[in-house]
Amino acid sequence: MNKKVAIIGGGIVGASAAYYLSSLPGGDQINVTLFDDGAGQATKAAAGIISPWLSKRRNQRWYQLAKDGATTLMTLARRANLSTDIYQQTGTIITRTNEKDLHDLYVLAQERHEEAPDMGEIELLSANDVKERLPLLTNPQPGVYVSGGARIDGEALVESLLEQAQQVNLTVKHQRVSLDNRGNIVAANGLQRFDDIIIAAGPWLTDLVAPLGIKVAVRPQKGQLIELSVPAYESQENMPVLMPEGERDFIPFGHGKLIVGATHDDEAGFNLTATPEATEDLLSSAKQFADYLTEDNITRTKVGTRAYTPDFAPFFGRLKNYPKLLVASGLGASGLTTGPLIGRLLAGTLIYGGTPDWSNYEKPLATYLS
Ligand SMILES: Cc1cc2nc3c(=O)[nH]c(=O)nc-3n(C[C@H](O)[C@H](O)[C@H](O)COP(=O)(O)OP(=O)(O)OC[C@H]3O[C@@H](n4cnc5c(N)ncnc54)[C@H](O)[C@@H]3O)c2cc1C
Repeated sequence: MNKKVAIIGGGIVGASAAYYLSSLPGGDQINVTLFDDGAGQATKAAAGIISPWLSKRRNQRWYQLAKDGATTLMTLARRANLSTDIYQQTGTIITRTNEKDLHDLYVLAQERHEEAPDMGEIELLSANDVKERLPLLTNPQPGVYVSGGARIDGEALVESLLEQAQQVNLTVKHQRVSLDNRGNIVAANGLQRFDDIIIAAGPWLTDLVAPLGIKVAVRPQKGQLIELSVPAYESQENMPVLMPEGERDFIPFGHGKLIVGATHDDEAGFNLTATPEATEDLLSSAKQFADYLTEDNITRTKVGTRAYTPDFAPFFGRLKNYPKLLVASGLGASGLTTGPLIGRLLAGTLIYGGTPDWSNYEKPLATYLS
């Protein structure tokens, strides 16, 4: 009889796990049911930058995960035949106003490249070079260009992965579920039994495992971004992503769509209301680089909830005391980058068994779960 697996959560982790459960050798011997209510999903609201290599974070495990995650996405894009509207390696430009900071960044890029050839080509760009590659800017700054950087449409990626998996072994149920005190799923039509359950529920993991007496060190953080239409640049499809100093990034998608994000609001937690203050703040950041932008350019605001651990690092794996439960959460601000790899590792362990050693990517689960 086929093994029955459930996934709770249809964001990037859950959708990637479902995709790999349908496409890795042996996966077709498994029946998969994914439950997702979609509310607050960070993946749908995300800005879409894939460029972990020049991060100043000192956490080596996180860096390994993010670096290998970016490579996993490159392979996934080919394997799942993702369109360039969903994933495109446009390159990223990281700018600095201070000459020394720029030089240091360039040196760091060259050092990191030795261990991460998927970064692609690295170039030091003057402000004029930056303007040439990003003509929509009115106030360009010098920067470092990394050709392996990419932009991704999280919502469309998840849709595509789930659609492909549904053609093999996946059933999607758009509903909220809970767990009973033995770790069984309680769905709309009552108790459901599965051989294994992947809980990829972002910050909602906390509520899901509460009936098991498990406490999770994860907090919710609200993130808001704006989508703008810039018709003058409609025909420019391959502009790189701009990552200036600070928290605001520019992600030009094709067809004149520009995303500017994102806010990081720890106080608002699970609140999903877009605020005019945050919109104004994002627009004023955007104007520093493209002074002609106005409210009229804004076509949409998006809000999602990120999951953060105290050390800002993701965790994933099988629960020791409930071995049929696997969890993944805490992906923070870089989950589009790390999520597909986490989904693949979880799917792999369900298909091939064993207790893999992921200590190069994460601290022990007990660091985050008690
Ligand atoms: C504004 C913003 C910008 C971002 N920009 C980037 C970026 O540029 N690059 C990058 O790498 N990352 C970015 N991120 C981070 C990234 O989006 C997240 O880390 C990642 O998407 C988290 O994926 P996930 O699958 O863990 O959770 P989510 O995408 O949040 O998915 C969890 C899903 O589980 C569902 N769920 C929860 N509980 C239940 C339940 N009981 N029953 C059924 N369903 C349930 C939720 O409804 C949700 O759909 C950004 C995030 C935000 C909010």
